[in-house]
Amino acid sequence: MFIRGFVISNWYINDGVAAKKLNQAQLSARDSVLNKLSLGTYKYEKVICPVCGNTSFQTLSEKDRLGIPCRVVLCTECGLIQLNPRMTKESYESFYNTEYRLFDSRSVGAYFDKQYQRGKSIFKDIERYSGINKYDGCYVVEIGCGAGGILKYFKNKGCTIKGYDYGTEYLNYGRVQHGLDLECGGIELHDHSLKADIIIYSHTFEHLLEPNRDLSKSHDILNENGLIFIHVPSYKKVLKGFYDADLLRCFQIAHTYYFSMRTLCNLVENNGFELMIGTEDVRCIFRKSDKRNNSYDSDYADAMRCIRISEVLRLIYRILPIYHIAWYAKKALIRAIELVGIKEHIREFAYKMRK
Ligand SMILES: [Zn+2]
Repeated sequence: MFIRGFVISNWYINDGVAAKKLNQAQLSARDSVLNKLSLGTYKYEKVICPVCGNTSFQTLSEKDRLGIPCRVVLCTECGLIQLNPRMTKESYESFYNTEYRLFDSRSVGAYFDKQYQRGKSIFKDIERYSGINKYDGCYVVEIGCGAGGILKYFKNKGCTIKGYDYGTEYLNYGRVQHGLDLECGGIELHDHSLKADIIIYSHTFEHLLEPNRDLSKSHDILNENGLIFIHVPSYKKVLKGFYDADLLRCFQIAHTYYFSMRTLCNLVENNGFELMIGTEDVRCIFRKSDKRNNSYDSDYADAMRCIRISEVLRLIYRILPIYHIAWYAKKALIRAIELVGIKEHIREFAYKMRK
């Protein structure tokens, strides 16, 4: 395996510095991960590119956004960004059950509520684009279901649901508080004979260790014409100012892959699915198909273009904090509206418009 020793800039060197301010709980969780890495409790392993089988990579960063040492690399053939080496399966399973949720400052209940809203929006997308018009008895499986908020929405719509995840605290919340059928583990636990109509990977696919294996199993357990919904964070959104235009803020040890629309399609279509609808946000619906696209459309040049531009943008945003200016401008506008006493009139007008 060949990994070229180049980082985008000094910002990405392994110096232990986080890309954002961490609270006390996050600092403790980070220290726990660092400790386990130094003791060898958490181990790294090298992998080949899951899209093209390439073993030659270009290093982009030596750390993640929390300052945890990890190598983010770019496949020089197909342009898929990935962690390599990355932690082993056993290490990740332990990580998800201990430190991972501590990086999220929300309560389990707040997290569940957000998931429920996500479920509503996923349901609307599937309803709009899939042609499914009857949900009673529709079998929905979610991989990486967390506390099960998304599945709760589908259950309320008459679906039969099943969820898998590794975080036991969140699973227990969904089971006890909402009576959901959730199990600790991954898709490998799913019974082949229980065919699904829809499989959901919402902000999960970027965490997978063996995406080809998951896709192959998803193909097996889906009914004919079954659907797979995948939504992953798009690192290319840095070009629109997301992540404070800082690519390092996209990188985290929990995310093994960083997809663009093209690299995701390369991977999923190679496993017997065809794209029905997708956005550059990397939010897609694929349908099970007999065809396998045994080739790929390289995203390397566009990934490099994005990396170069984002580095310039990051520096511009540092000098000119556009988001902060916009935030203060919004606050000042709201205050001015309050002072001249027309806030209630504007609220009433907005309410009428919504009706
Ligand atoms: Zn590749």
